[in-house]
Amino acid sequence: MPEPTDDAELLAAAAVALHRHADVLSGLGSLFATAGHQLYLVGGSVRDAVLGRLDTGDLDFATDARPEQVQKLLRPWADALWDTGIEFGTVGAEKDHRRLEITTFRADRYDRVSRNPQVAFGDSLDDDLVRRDFTVNAMAVRVAATGAAEFVDPLGGLAAVRAGVLDTPAKPADSFGDDPLRMLRAARFVSQLGFAVAPRVRTAIEDMAAELGRITVERVAVELDKLLLGDNPVAGIDLMVQTGMGDVVLPDVGGMQMAIDEHHQHKDVYQHSLTVLRQAIALEDEGPDLVLRWAALLHDIGKPATRKHEPDGGVSFHHHEVVGAKMVRKRLRALKYSRHIVDDVSQLVYLHLRFHGYGDGKWTDSAVRRYVTDAGPLLPQLHKLVRADCTTRNRRRAARLQANYDDLEARIAELAAKEDLQRVRPDLDGNEIMQLLGIPAGPQVGEAWRHLKELRLDRGPLTHEEATAELLSWWQARGNR
Ligand code: ATP
Ligand code: MG
Repeated sequence: MPEPTDDAELLAAAAVALHRHADVLSGLGSLFATAGHQLYLVGGSVRDAVLGRLDTGDLDFATDARPEQVQKLLRPWADALWDTGIEFGTVGAEKDHRRLEITTFRADRYDRVSRNPQVAFGDSLDDDLVRRDFTVNAMAVRVAATGAAEFVDPLGGLAAVRAGVLDTPAKPADSFGDDPLRMLRAARFVSQLGFAVAPRVRTAIEDMAAELGRITVERVAVELDKLLLGDNPVAGIDLMVQTGMGDVVLPDVGGMQMAIDEHHQHKDVYQHSLTVLRQAIALEDEGPDLVLRWAALLHDIGKPATRKHEPDGGVSFHHHEVVGAKMVRKRLRALKYSRHIVDDVSQLVYLHLRFHGYGDGKWTDSAVRRYVTDAGPLLPQLHKLVRADCTTRNRRRAARLQANYDDLEARIAELAAKEDLQRVRPDLDGNEIMQLLGIPAGPQVGEAWRHLKELRLDRGPLTHEEATAELLSWWQARGNR
């Protein structure tokens, strides 16, 4: 993105971005104009257009028409309609593969107890805009029958975009008192847009961070995901941690800020984690990877709890990957992440240290097989995490670690060429086991299966005869004939 220089340039960028949606805008504009209603493009759509990047996002509109009227106007025109947001005044629609959200002007009040807005509809755009979270999200473009018309910016949103600043339309304390989630949204926009918060916004967050505790985890998790998937999550996380929001929504992350001990023998785990996150992002090859980013951020969260000062003056963190994997599970579950995300992130954290036992390439084939099998489909992400976890400033040491990892990857490739490493399974299946041992389905079959799998991991593929002989001798050793 080129550096924007002045308003004219930003508005020109917006016009170009909006031109891609010209058909939808004029179609919708004439529907509303004919019915005598106002229609404005608002919020994230206008902000992204000004930033010249309105490619994929939904188009958000505001209108004085009430939701039922909006539905009536859209029904014959849209390709699809939905009403999941109707109690908040939002009608969703799809037209020519674009998603549109049209919301009646809001004039909410807040009860300051439950923090849920008491939804009220209004008639004026200005009242609607002043209730929005940040001035950069409170710009509008009038949509006329001919499409995008004049730019409306009563709160100085364009100047804020130019300055790269997130500020609230009204006093930050009032705004955050109405909806504390806006504080976390500030950190999310810091990550997504690369903007900074205004000093008064930062002060208000420092004072009020604890109020985030009233927000449902679902709303928190949506913002955390967007923060982590943004272009600069390190900046967003650091704002969160430094202002106290982290204590409420992700206490283990700030908890990694440990005093550097008197011997300076270990670096600050928190700063290290941010560096690993940055380095993991640099290794991404298929777009932002939520699982990898969570794993990079959280890989060392077991360290504070396992830190021990050793008699020789050193510091150790025994089994921090085991403790950390459990902490990850607990934290991500509390945020109601899907099982798949919880399992994957915690498994990556659990495995992130194993490579350090690799030394100078002395792993047996069995150890390599187990590494691949335990990582399963996470192997590409594990490779990235482990490489990113090297943050030493000592160039020779860093080069040696990367070379060792190259070596491990080469060993994996070599073994994979000889056997199907992705699917290490016993050389006999359950049916064969039952037949050979003459037993019915039951727990013993599972035990036999696991025994053969262990053998398979240790020794690689066995022939049918070898596997049969191994199975029978295991069975006899257990006292069976
Ligand atoms: P994106 O869709 O890219 O995540 P966005 O800015 O569109 O970003 P949304 O959450 O879709 O964010 O919200 C749309 C608009 O609604 C915002 O730009 C803002 O104007 C307003 N808004 C959303 N949430 C709040 C809130 N909690 N308080 C005040 N205004 C809000
Ligand atoms: Mg949006």
